Amino acid sequence: MRTIEHWIGGAATRAGSTRTAPVWNPATGQQQAEVLLAEPSDIDLAVSAAAKAFESWSQTSLTKRTKVLFAFRELVSRHARQLAEIIADEHGKVVSDALGEVQRGLEVVEFACGIPHLLKGDFSDQVSTGVDVYGFREPLGVVAGITPFNFPVMVPMWMHPVAIACGNTFVLKPSERDPSASQLVASLWAEAGLPDGVFTVVNGDKAAVDALLDHPDVAAVSFVGSTPIAKYIHQRASANGKRVQALGGAKNHAVVLPDADLDFASDHLVAAAMGSAGERCMAVSAAVAVGTGADQLVETVAAKAAAVRVGPGRDEASEMGPVVTAAARDRITGYIDAGERQGATLAVDGRGLVVPGHEDGFFVGPTVLDHVTTEMDVYRDEIFGPVLSVVRADDVDQAIALINQNPYGNGTAIFTGSGEAARRFQRGVHVGMIGINVPIPVPMAYYSFGGWKDSLFGQSHVHGPEGIAFYTRAKVVTARWPRVDHPIAASYHFPTTT
Ligand code: NAD
Repeated sequence: MRTIEHWIGGAATRAGSTRTAPVWNPATGQQQAEVLLAEPSDIDLAVSAAAKAFESWSQTSLTKRTKVLFAFRELVSRHARQLAEIIADEHGKVVSDALGEVQRGLEVVEFACGIPHLLKGDFSDQVSTGVDVYGFREPLGVVAGITPFNFPVMVPMWMHPVAIACGNTFVLKPSERDPSASQLVASLWAEAGLPDGVFTVVNGDKAAVDALLDHPDVAAVSFVGSTPIAKYIHQRASANGKRVQALGGAKNHAVVLPDADLDFASDHLVAAAMGSAGERCMAVSAAVAVGTGADQLVETVAAKAAAVRVGPGRDEASEMGPVVTAAARDRITGYIDAGERQGATLAVDGRGLVVPGHEDGFFVGPTVLDHVTTEMDVYRDEIFGPVLSVVRADDVDQAIALINQNPYGNGTAIFTGSGEAARRFQRGVHVGMIGINVPIPVPMAYYSFGGWKDSLFGQSHVHGPEGIAFYTRAKVVTARWPRVDHPIAASYHFPTTT
């Protein structure tokens, strides 16, 4: 059985870990590896190595840091296929989707390659007679990233290229369900010339996370995962005086107005709901059918959902793979049971799907539930599976009100031919990321990614300008170089300008 180790001080290591967790192949349902689970003493070792590395990395010139980033960019690009196959084997998503994930991560690396420009400071000449003021930003120290299973390459890349470019050292605690990609990423950083200890990977569970949250030498924590854990991370790390950004779960609504192109909207709705088996924080899980065209929309969506080709992620013919674990499959089918029990209509039922040759794989077929109401569990909870719930609204204002009553506020989309309705929607919804005829509006790397309400705890979104601000702190210098022949008298009142 292959054992997935940590990456500490520039090399793979078991450190003092003895506990392990299974890593499954979701397409076959077989265990394919075991991953070590770090103890607090391993976290201490990792953070110490990162703190030591910070002493020199934070002093490394922007020119040298940028060279490492460009080299890393080339290596990730060259290994994109290998990374995508590792993702497909452990997460289950199809390789073409995993390649898209790697590409979106790579775009953050490309953003971080512009670090000399991004860290340019401000300078004000002669703010007072003979006095200049200038400001610049410095790195924080050792920063930690705790990441979910659903994007094992992209979500960590929202964090580490930016943190490292800013001069920090980074300790990643990836999901224990698909940890292998992070080992390859660590070796690519090393090959790019990143000094030992600047990028660290510790595998583990709650024990490792808690040790990071409590460690006095961890300055900041970036978290992406489910809402209850995001809330917990935010509270515990904040109580320990750390800077925290904690992105949580989602329930993303896509509103379809009667003037939308039905074929376009239904194609995109199905892809956004079923792509990656619905295991995306930006997946559409609720469709809001507005007005009289609802029945026709459901009929079209159901036909397209039933036609999605489900199979192993490595099979190029597959459009949708299995879900990550048997427990995830059982949770999802439990929600479909509940939806049926609570009065929703099953337009497409994905329970009991069997993929020939992969009978033990963790498959759930695309599912569409119609006549869903806001009290039902399928509407209230994040299912994180290939399940689309259709709710109905009379007009766009009712759709906006529905979205705003929901505790989550990650992403949302509207399908319409009306600029007026789209503008009313974009201004009215309490949601961080909005798509207009774009169902999964993930911002480009040079904008910041993040939700509102229960989808984010803390102030900062990730990457883009907010990522740079999160991983640095400001210094402002007020400087005077008096002429020896013009002495300036000291005064006892609070300094004012002259
Ligand atoms: P999760 O919350 O179970 O796990 C996330 C991380 O937290 C993992 O590294 C895990 O080891 C750790 N963790 C789990 N339980 C913990 C505990 N009790 N104490 C301390 N640490 C713990 O999430 P997941 O199932 O891996 O990922 C899916 C979730 O992530 C979904 O809710 C999804 O919406 C969310 N997500 C959100 C975004 C976003 O940008 N808002 C992006 C991707 C995923």
